[in-house]
Amino acid sequence: MTVQLHDTLSGSLQAVEPLEPGHVRVYSCGPTVYGPAHVGNFRSFLFADLLVRHLRWRGLRVTWVMNLTDLDDKIIRGAAAAGIGIDALAERWIARFLEDARTLRMTRPDVMPRATEHIPEMVALLERLLAAGHAYRTDDGSVFFRISSWPAYGRLARLDPGQLRVGERVAADEYSKDDVRDFVLWKSARDGEPSWETAVGSGRPGWHLECSAMAMRYLGESFDIHTGGVDLVFPHHEDEIAQSEAATGKPFVRTWLHCAHLQMGGRKMAKSEGNIARVADLLAAGRSPRALRYALLAAHYRTGLNFSDDSLAAATAAVERLDALVGSLEAYGSDGPDDPTLPGALAAAREAFGAALDDDLAISPALGALFDLVRDLNRRVAERRLSTDDARAALAALRDLDTVLGLLPEPADALPADLASLLEARARARASSDWIASDRLRDELAGAGIVVEDSRDGQRWRRAGGPTGA
Ligand SMILES: [Zn+2]
Repeated sequence: MTVQLHDTLSGSLQAVEPLEPGHVRVYSCGPTVYGPAHVGNFRSFLFADLLVRHLRWRGLRVTWVMNLTDLDDKIIRGAAAAGIGIDALAERWIARFLEDARTLRMTRPDVMPRATEHIPEMVALLERLLAAGHAYRTDDGSVFFRISSWPAYGRLARLDPGQLRVGERVAADEYSKDDVRDFVLWKSARDGEPSWETAVGSGRPGWHLECSAMAMRYLGESFDIHTGGVDLVFPHHEDEIAQSEAATGKPFVRTWLHCAHLQMGGRKMAKSEGNIARVADLLAAGRSPRALRYALLAAHYRTGLNFSDDSLAAATAAVERLDALVGSLEAYGSDGPDDPTLPGALAAAREAFGAALDDDLAISPALGALFDLVRDLNRRVAERRLSTDDARAALAALRDLDTVLGLLPEPADALPADLASLLEARARARASSDWIASDRLRDELAGAGIVVEDSRDGQRWRRAGGPTGA
């Protein structure tokens, strides 16, 4: 197998061939922690999660780094408005981000570095750029990257550096610089703003510098994959490439992946558009976390995805179909013989699922392969063609695919012991036709958020509405 991914820089598919054989190093631009992330932000994070899960499922070792931007203008303004320090503001929103990420079953990145804890790394990178003549200091002590020293600037975003006029917006601020296109690496200290005393002076780093310095700190000067939302291509990632490669003389990143916007009501979901949806609000409105995850994953990462009541309803129905099958397989029992065609069907489904994701994370055919298998297994269950061992094997096959998707309910043995013993007591009551005890135990379980249903194979359970733990 070879996993192939669409690289933004070359504009073509590239095989994942890690610089260190068998070990893929991935960096994802993470949240700016000045408020709660919205589901549009999470689409980009969950796409990186899908990538990491798939690479691991393919047997590769992955080191995944996602930064937490805990220092920028928005945080400084937010902290001032709230009358607290930037640390306190960042702590509050980092906790919320981690909680939302857990709710959506995002794999926890191996390292989540914070900008404020990596100032020395950023200063070291600055010193290299100054020494090599790619950066210069202005009268007020700020440092800028000199774009005219870097002819490759603009390749990622396919911009002609001679035509670049983007600096004009930045030129309106108070930092003087040689060329309007140049971007800030270090901002000199100002009253009322946090600043650090460093070898390059007193001040704070610019946002772009943060990602280059932290990626290099944890993944090396050259690494395999860098992800982010498509809005980060320019200028953020363009600037990352320029400052990194100008400092090290090495290629910074092998493959650049960018996730398209999430849309709502036909427009990009963005705080500035006023059309945002947040995880906690959707849960409060009764949406299931796994349906949210499904809705955010179900379209290919490079295509626009419209987030709507319809897409959430479709996602809810899809997750319920998975739950129903898992419930019937968990409850299934039969003295009959093994189904000789089952192993082939499970292997074919795995093959089709993996091949789809190998092809630039093509999620639609991967989900197609999964739901073809769901239909097939539902038929085999309905026709009582499986043995008890077959049902266990089918369940294991589903859980194997789900290590990539993260959509299935928890295994039955994941229930807390007290609830598991209530379920067992109810199964015994039913076996002895003690319907009064059985009903009482069902009510007791319902009170603990566990819905029990009876089928010909015995009782099944699922968690009612609310969050299904990851
Ligand atoms: Zn970044």
